[in-house]
Amino acid sequence: MHMVNNIHNFQKSLVLVVDDDFAARLQVRAALEKYGFNVCEAGNGRDALESFQNQPPAMVLLDVVMPEMDGFETCSQLRRLPGGEHVPVVMVTGLEDIESIDRAFEVGATDFITKPINWAILGYRVRYWLRSASILNDLKISQQRLSMAQHVARLGHWELNLSSGEFHFSSKVPHLLGITDTHRFDALFEHIVAADKGRVTEVITNACKNEQPFSVNYEIRQKNGETCSIFNQTEIIHDEAYNTRLMIGTIQDITELKKAEEQIRYLAFYDNLTGLANRALFREHWTKVLAHSQRKKTKIAVMFIDLDHFKRINDSMGHVAGDKVLKAIADRLKNTLRQSDIVARSGIESPSFMISRVGGDKFTILAADITSTNHISTLAERVIQALFEPMDIDGQQLFITASIGISVFPEDGGDIDILLKNADTAMYEAKEKGRNNFQFFQAEMNESARIRFQMWNELTQAIEKDELTLYFQPQFNNRTGKLTGTEALVRWNHPQKGLVPPDQFLPFAEESGLIHQINEWVLWKACRQAQQWVEAGLFENCRMGVNISGHNVNLRLIETHIRNIMEKTGLKPQHLEIELTERVMMENTDEAVVALENLQKMGLTIAIDDFGTGYSALSHLQIFPLNVLKIDKSFVQNIMAAKKNLSLLQSIIGIAKSFDLKVIAEGVETIEQLRTLYHLDCDDVQGFLISRPLPIEEVEHKLRAGSFNDSLEPGWQTLPENLGEDN
Ligand code: C2E
Ligand code: CA
Ligand code: CA
Repeated sequence: MHMVNNIHNFQKSLVLVVDDDFAARLQVRAALEKYGFNVCEAGNGRDALESFQNQPPAMVLLDVVMPEMDGFETCSQLRRLPGGEHVPVVMVTGLEDIESIDRAFEVGATDFITKPINWAILGYRVRYWLRSASILNDLKISQQRLSMAQHVARLGHWELNLSSGEFHFSSKVPHLLGITDTHRFDALFEHIVAADKGRVTEVITNACKNEQPFSVNYEIRQKNGETCSIFNQTEIIHDEAYNTRLMIGTIQDITELKKAEEQIRYLAFYDNLTGLANRALFREHWTKVLAHSQRKKTKIAVMFIDLDHFKRINDSMGHVAGDKVLKAIADRLKNTLRQSDIVARSGIESPSFMISRVGGDKFTILAADITSTNHISTLAERVIQALFEPMDIDGQQLFITASIGISVFPEDGGDIDILLKNADTAMYEAKEKGRNNFQFFQAEMNESARIRFQMWNELTQAIEKDELTLYFQPQFNNRTGKLTGTEALVRWNHPQKGLVPPDQFLPFAEESGLIHQINEWVLWKACRQAQQWVEAGLFENCRMGVNISGHNVNLRLIETHIRNIMEKTGLKPQHLEIELTERVMMENTDEAVVALENLQKMGLTIAIDDFGTGYSALSHLQIFPLNVLKIDKSFVQNIMAAKKNLSLLQSIIGIAKSFDLKVIAEGVETIEQLRTLYHLDCDDVQGFLISRPLPIEEVEHKLRAGSFNDSLEPGWQTLPENLGEDN
């Protein structure tokens, strides 16, 4: 849009001169050209209309008296031409009678001049007509713009003269308010909904009485029955003498704005994925229920729900599936809390639940108006139960469990931050107790949080200060009795506590992620040790077994790390065996398969550890590239307990063999176990019976002495002596 601003320069503007008198035209032309105007001529009405269309002039000087088509007729036809509506048309008349002047205005003339023309001032007059036409045009454009802007802003304005009571409004107002009466001020407020009417009337009455500006919001009911939101704002204006006082108002339809506001509120307070409340709304709700609970002396429970192993779902099935799970969980939580029987059973009088998602796979429930702690347990049980039902996601059946921590107002804190923190602590406790359960916060848990923190500090330092140390437990061939390798087992040489066994710090290391550093440290140390023994000629045909554990073990990283270590230590891959539990492999199936294949190609031995516990599934033997299956010690130790254990063990060994896996049994403590394993055709054995895990020097001593190879003498199976006696 360009700004029309040609007020100052009308020189060169084209003026169309229409007169049947040739001499008169020449005179006009001469007079105008002297002022710098361009002139074109027409000798009759028809030519004038044609010339107007071919070469639109800035104005027209039109003689009234012409044959055939007179000036009046020409003017009225010209006005109907495109562009003819607003061009200044000045009639030149010799007749000074009022009648012809009236006619001229009737047919749309802008002005008139009379003959004889004053040639000296004609140029000035033309310039004046052009200027006023231009100003009018600018005004028209600016009015159009204003009205367009008001249209876009859904804005109308009105004006009330407080002295005379006169009232006007813009064309948009009746449109916005659906009113027809254009003269009454109070018509403005006719369609206000009942709920707003009293309030608005009061505001306006006061404003008029005190001549004060006001602004007010209200809803009006439209003809189609829908409501729309109106914002009405005013100013008071007076002239200097205070004679006239005007109240100027704008009326704006803010329905869309309100909707946008609601949308923004939704974004600010709700979780987009699940539609549940978010952290902010959770807090807002807390202040509400707190006041209520304090009045009624009831309890509020804060439940902190964390899904177990959710990351595993995200990693293996993708984020889209992960999102579906979260949505499904949200629905289940909603349904569970909606069910009326839970309200009845839990004895919550007027239940007030707020479920929110506070990030990732973490949800909170705020349950207010609770009278007994038992009711909270019932609620938690129901939630656990509801989540545990199998879930169908992308054609796969998933079992989702959650760990729930609960804190209760007022016992566990009066402030939402403390309650949340305590619920979180309790949630950790639930995780530690094996997940899929709920725990109430107990004050000692803070103590345990403190201990955890201390542990974290200590363990971090232990890694840095090299307080970790390795023990090695030998493994033997069940037939020949020869040493086949050692398993590296970590210990913590604690400055105060002495030698700390792994089950006292590894679970924590796994929970906190420190395990990854430990894994790498053990790999490095064990490989270096193995290489020293190889170089000393003590470890021929033997393998060093290294355990890798933790959540989210990245096997691709481990692969890189191992390559690195091999290169630095010079250890050959055939001397290294890594022991992985099924859990570690499953966490990242595709990646794990690739990494393990690479390692296997290098010549490493891959063992599946603790087989027979937890996830054991025979299909894993198919999926993952493996060389060795380690039967868990609990299995070995139960052999004698029941006949069916024996046959189970037998079939596991059979299946392993069918997959071409070597089988090693760990935790062999008795000669009977050893003998049974021999008969079941288990390849290798490891256990206290033959040797406990030993410190480096001791292993080295025995390696040099060659005494390991005498641990199982040929024919031992017929000699029920205590072979492990001196270990
Ligand atoms: P694991 O991988 O099953 O290791 C074998 C465990 O069984 C060792 O316990 C070993 O001392 C014990 N054991 C060996 N023979 C017998 C026996 O005849 N009877 C009984 N009752 N136990 C026997 P340890 O050293 O206490 O290690 C416990 C667990 O800690 C290991 O179980 C392994 O899961 C983990 N772990 C140990 N060292 C490391 C390590 O360096 N890295 C990682 N990631 N985990 C380790
Ligand atoms: Ca192991
Ligand atoms: Ca084991």
